[in-house]
Amino acid sequence: MANGLMVFIEQFEGKIANVSLELISKGRELADQLGVSLEAAAVGYEMEEELKLLGHYGCDKVYYIDNEELEFFLSLPYADAVSHIIKKYAPQIVLFGATTTGRDIAPRIASELRCGLTADCTDLQIGEFTLKGETYKDKLLQIRPAFGGNIIATIVSPDSMPSMATVRSGVMKMVNPDKNKKVEIVEEAYTPKDDLFLSEILEVIKIEKSVDLTSARIIVSAGMGAANPDSIKLVAELASVLGGVVGASRPVVDSGLLKKEHQVGQTGTTVRPNLYIACGISGQIQHRAGMNESKRIIAINNDPEAPIFNIAHYGIVGDINDILTKMIAAYKNKV
Ligand SMILES: Cc1cc2nc3c(=O)[nH]c(=O)nc-3n(C[C@H](O)[C@H](O)[C@H](O)COP(=O)(O)OP(=O)(O)OC[C@H]3O[C@@H](n4cnc5c(N)ncnc54)[C@H](O)[C@@H]3O)c2cc1C
Repeated sequence: MANGLMVFIEQFEGKIANVSLELISKGRELADQLGVSLEAAAVGYEMEEELKLLGHYGCDKVYYIDNEELEFFLSLPYADAVSHIIKKYAPQIVLFGATTTGRDIAPRIASELRCGLTADCTDLQIGEFTLKGETYKDKLLQIRPAFGGNIIATIVSPDSMPSMATVRSGVMKMVNPDKNKKVEIVEEAYTPKDDLFLSEILEVIKIEKSVDLTSARIIVSAGMGAANPDSIKLVAELASVLGGVVGASRPVVDSGLLKKEHQVGQTGTTVRPNLYIACGISGQIQHRAGMNESKRIIAINNDPEAPIFNIAHYGIVGDINDILTKMIAAYKNKV
């Protein structure tokens, strides 16, 4: 069988990150297209039970380095451990979450393996392409916005192995787990060298997020058309009445009205809620990149020509305060 497709499994305190399960879900689809096995590389401590979860999402085999010193993420030891697995099993594709962890180790591994790496892909496909008269088949097409989001580029690394890409959390859809599916866990003998431990974790301090956009089913987002304290209050009230959370466009976050963790878009969070209500958001590509997979989109804008209406399922033209006040009253009465 040809070389497999591998996903780096990110974990914290032994719990697998959602982004890794999303990548396993997407990886299954790509591996099937290529007719290869879907593999995973995991590093941690006492994770055997948790790793079984990977099977439920379609992973065939996980290469696992179990070591107490590697319980928590550290850049150099993790990069070395994952490079060890990649060198040994030579996958043709390796995927990482575009998280702080993935963004830290993926470039180190790409440099170690002298291969290409495409950051922040918004889509991954298997296909062919032609370069200088030569046609390459079954290559990973790494699709991402480029030049400030003004073009969508397809990036291919035809000559270097493996092709490596990072993908942000929420971009790929997680499949429904199937508890009957099993993964083969292969424990790897590996001991990190002492000189890799340049830093030491003294204490883990957890900061609770005030909003979790990724798992929200309803998001009411404020744009510059709602960028004042009164309108933001209405946005928050509608979110609360609907049992949702508050999102924002980047300029609203830049203006200091809402924190960065509320930002939706290319440089914020990618979301897929059941309902996304865009309040006074024009709908520029960088914002749409983070929310156009929402199941239903309602846009409220006083400009009937606003681009957000091109992707909205329902559009309301009018002043944001006026419309939000009416919506809040209507939903409150319904409850
Ligand atoms: C590299 C890069 C990355 C970026 N990343 C992101 C990102 O992650 N997320 C993001 O959102 N942006 C991002 N941007 C910025 C993006 O290009 C847009 O500038 C931004 O999305 C616009 O935000 P907005 O729609 O809130 O504001 P505007 O474009 O100013 O739109 C405001 C809208 O409100 C409407 N409006 C005004 N008053 C009212 C009213 N009283 N009632 C109803 N409607 C009203 C207007 O008609 C207008 O359509 C990025 C840009 C770059 C270059």
